[in-house]
Amino acid sequence: MQDVQKEKLRLKFLGCLLGAAIGDALGARWEGRRMSRSEDIVFLAERLEQLIYTDDTHMTIGVAESLIESKGFDGEHMAQTFIKNYDAEPWRGYGPGPPRIFRMIKDGEAWYSAANRLYRGGSFGNGSAMRVAPVGLLYSRDLEKLREIAYQSSSITHSHELAREGASLQACAVALAVNTPSDEDIDKEAFLSKLQNFIPNQLYQEKLAQIKELLGEQDKAKVIAVLGNGIEAPRSVPTAIYCFLRQPQSYKDAVIYAISLGGDTDTIAAMAGAISGAYLGIDAIPPEWLAKLENKDYIESLAQKLWQLAICPA
Ligand SMILES: [Mg+2]
Repeated sequence: MQDVQKEKLRLKFLGCLLGAAIGDALGARWEGRRMSRSEDIVFLAERLEQLIYTDDTHMTIGVAESLIESKGFDGEHMAQTFIKNYDAEPWRGYGPGPPRIFRMIKDGEAWYSAANRLYRGGSFGNGSAMRVAPVGLLYSRDLEKLREIAYQSSSITHSHELAREGASLQACAVALAVNTPSDEDIDKEAFLSKLQNFIPNQLYQEKLAQIKELLGEQDKAKVIAVLGNGIEAPRSVPTAIYCFLRQPQSYKDAVIYAISLGGDTDTIAAMAGAISGAYLGIDAIPPEWLAKLENKDYIESLAQKLWQLAICPA
């Protein structure tokens, strides 16, 4: 890879992780609300003094840390990293599931079986898709490997097929965004076709077809009714992809739109922000938002190390 290409890739890695964190931190202020007007979100975002992220980013940091330290995926290491991070900052807005799974693993349960034991059949929440961006970045050149690692990293907390597929779909969207040069227009139909070819699951296939039909839709209520804005992976991962594809040339518009849909705003904005940032790169993120992001330098350093691992694997 030429140096100029490596540098463009670096900016995309930074854009992805920082874009996800900002989407999470901004979205967290609107979590659980109904639809909001975009102007109101922009107005309030300008007045926030600091952007504090939640479990979405905290766990994304864990995924990145573990991939970097293990030079690839190691389930036991990743589970222990989640546990260490949770123990240090349990106040990040974790749902009820992960802390119980962490306790089970601490008590000796294997990383790959704890989630299944807690919820029979596994959870199909979006908790594994919300943190999967580093997997999408690191394995963007090998989608079968990406799929396998997305599944496995999901299984630590979310073992249901819909959660695993949702995580792999989000990782694939990040990978496609990273692989599309930022000065090249996104071909929306081709982007969706690639995702459809990637995902075997029927429900996600249908959701991707619905995204195509909704691309010009002005009625947010209809978008929410069809794609959803909930905590279930199939009712949030396709929504995030939609938010990106509606406004692929603007990180700010994609994230604001995601938040304006209401519901699980931090996670949907985090996932939309990850895809948008992976496509447009860090320069597309409003500098005033970047400046307010908590732990920005640390997240940036993780993106940098992940990029080094991607361009020169061990
Ligand atoms: Mg959250």
